[in-house]
Amino acid sequence: MKPTVNKISKSDLKASIDYHLRCSLCKEPLSRENRDLFLSTAFSLRDRMAEKILQTERRYQASQTKRVYYLSLEFLIGRLLGNTLHNLGMFDACRELLTEAGIDIEEVREQENDPGLGNGGLGRLAACFLDSMATLDIAGFGYGIHYEYGLFKQEIDNGYQREKPDNWLADLNPWEIKRTDEKCIIPIYGRIEHFQDRDGGYNPMWLDWKLIVGIPFDIPVAGYGGKTVNWLRLYGAGSSADFDIQIFNEGDYFRAVEQKVASETITKMLYPLDTIKSGKELRLVQEYFLVACALKDIIRRYLKNNENFDRFPDQAAIQMNDTHPSLAVAELMRLLVDEYALPWERAWEITQQTLAYTNHTVLAEALEKWPVALLERVIPRHLQIIHEINHRFLEKVAGRHPGDVDLLRRVSLIQEGETKMVRMAHLALVGSHSVNGVSALHTDILKQDNFSDFYALWPERFVNITNGITQRRWLLEANPRLARLITDTISDAWITDLSQLRLLEPYADQAIFMDEFSGIKRANKQALSKIISDTLWLSIDPDSLFDIHVKRIHEYKRQLLKIMHIIHEYLQIVRGEKTPTVAKTFIFAGKAAPGYWVAKQMIKLIHNVGQVINQDRRIKDAMKVVFLPDYSVSLAEKIIPAADLSEQISMAGQEASGTGNMKFMLNGALTVGTLDGANVEMLEEAGVDNIFIFGLKAEEIADMIKKNTYRSREYYHRFPEIRTVLDAFRDNIFSPDEQGLFQWIYHRMMNNEDPYFHLMDFSPYLQVQDQIEAEYRDSANWTKKTILNVARSGKFSSDRAISDYNHLIWNKKVLNGSL
Ligand SMILES: *Cc1c(COP(=O)(O)O)cnc(C)c1O
Repeated sequence: MKPTVNKISKSDLKASIDYHLRCSLCKEPLSRENRDLFLSTAFSLRDRMAEKILQTERRYQASQTKRVYYLSLEFLIGRLLGNTLHNLGMFDACRELLTEAGIDIEEVREQENDPGLGNGGLGRLAACFLDSMATLDIAGFGYGIHYEYGLFKQEIDNGYQREKPDNWLADLNPWEIKRTDEKCIIPIYGRIEHFQDRDGGYNPMWLDWKLIVGIPFDIPVAGYGGKTVNWLRLYGAGSSADFDIQIFNEGDYFRAVEQKVASETITKMLYPLDTIKSGKELRLVQEYFLVACALKDIIRRYLKNNENFDRFPDQAAIQMNDTHPSLAVAELMRLLVDEYALPWERAWEITQQTLAYTNHTVLAEALEKWPVALLERVIPRHLQIIHEINHRFLEKVAGRHPGDVDLLRRVSLIQEGETKMVRMAHLALVGSHSVNGVSALHTDILKQDNFSDFYALWPERFVNITNGITQRRWLLEANPRLARLITDTISDAWITDLSQLRLLEPYADQAIFMDEFSGIKRANKQALSKIISDTLWLSIDPDSLFDIHVKRIHEYKRQLLKIMHIIHEYLQIVRGEKTPTVAKTFIFAGKAAPGYWVAKQMIKLIHNVGQVINQDRRIKDAMKVVFLPDYSVSLAEKIIPAADLSEQISMAGQEASGTGNMKFMLNGALTVGTLDGANVEMLEEAGVDNIFIFGLKAEEIADMIKKNTYRSREYYHRFPEIRTVLDAFRDNIFSPDEQGLFQWIYHRMMNNEDPYFHLMDFSPYLQVQDQIEAEYRDSANWTKKTILNVARSGKFSSDRAISDYNHLIWNKKVLNGSL
């Protein structure tokens, strides 16, 4: 499908760019500043998209389409220039235009700040979903926060991570449209007065609240082909004029300004935490702020066409991306009951029928809980509503399971104890008609483990929707050479239907195609080598095996296992126990949460190991270890197309899905991985000969944890290869000038503290790595396998995931629940 709708010509585009250079930027039309060219091109595209948003809205209005609202505290959208040009069908025209003027479009694209409004996979998923909803012509919109500072920039100083603020808005953001006219006002803090109404009924009043103003910033989201342009609405916090004026009138100018600053603080920055909880009041306020702004906006839009709430669940589906927006349950109830005077039962039906919840993690430390006392202070009315929901819910459970007090304790929205806590996952589960996991394995674990009581109550609410990625960004844009080859071979239908890639299978052993395919991989590796040499002054052999582990740094993702493998090979070579047969380049990237000490130590360890190995003359060019700083969407787009081997080696049962794994598969890397998350389904799709699976299975680990039978120390004594590596930590081999730096790793393992089962998986991991080395030497066979991986990656498109959400959740007829 070629984009045809209102495609603009090269000369129109040129005229528009010239216009914005002069009129928006006040620059001579001949300006050759890349920055100016980026801005004026972006403004030109925004003009087109603004018109398209209006057209799209008229279409939705005319057909009374059900709208989907995707609520997420994170949207890791990446740069928009390339993606927008591709989706509007204007990439080639724009590139030619710039080339004719002697300008490289890549340099213009590099001018754009990468909006880091997310931590990792969860935020990136939300971004892929926006692209897919617009491409599939679904009326789907994102609601998020307009953080002034995105995820920190990572710098490396003597091997240690240093965090620098990401002031991404310091320069102008040409994409966003500030909509002051649609601002909303949100109450917060205050207290409850227990009044009675005229008939003597209980009528609580929320009093003495303060007000925050939510100001929307809209970012257009163009679907491929340009027919549909939806938007992502990000709210920034400001102070309420009314509120300020009251203090002004009291004559306290400084306090008024202080208040204003305090309000603005709410959306100052993204919490730099990946799968671990923060527990900070400001984070709770952010979660409430987003939910309250979004629901006000959604209801306002609905009431333009409706007089009551009868059609609300038919006109709006609200998807909660993890528990972060789960206060939507309480806020929607509050709006319906307190502000629109619906009876509780009716409001509850509407709430459940509208909301749905996506779970993203089984890590105990990541399941959100907030102290009851904190909620009482910040949103007292919501706490009351949560108690009422809980009361009615537990009554029904007790009716079904008389006498089972333990069950009530387990499923309650409130965790009793010294500090009473609200369990946000339970709130989301009880208030939704659907809960989904993000891979088949993960959904099974939710059913059997974390949420087994809820599964027994409502099996019909549980669905699996395996994650996906958009091929528009992760192949068409990130890997233009491969995209071109595929289009030339099987047509461009894959761009909107990734299952078409199956047509590549017959080419997997055709010499000409194989040569072109491996030539492209080689060119991508060369390009990445140049980036490595430019940023780190390290020269890399593009013919070496690129073995890549890039993702957030976390113990469960087991960067340590990868480093132990590298140390093992290094010591074998220098001790003459191994003759290297394949040169290898090990590439890492990833940020550590600023307060996560072990993760930060991993970054230091990778650097120290690299320092020793990269300088050791005995190694020659057999191994190189590289850490590329400041992992981001833009960096991922450069690294992934150059990968030979994708490391997906999390402890089984911990990675809910992973999406990095899918990006690598789509770009012709082979995967080495555990049976975790979506790796399980990648094995099913690729076939057992085309992926390297090793290690413990999730049930085996769960069983050992339950029975407490794993002793890491025994593995030290049983396996010489483990001894060598742990002794290297003990003996400061990688910290000669920093004595004792990594001894904690040795001591923990010897103390049976290996909660992520590194030692038990280590020997199987070495074995599979030996197999990989042998297979890589047979380059024709390797290439064949990589082609088959690409051909069989169609399932992992976010188009498939969104179409699953659409059928299984958003447009499923919801019967009034039994509870
Ligand atoms: C895809 C992506 C992730 C998620 O990677 P996983 O390997 O699934 O953890 C994280 N960060 C960025 C920048 C990404 O593009």
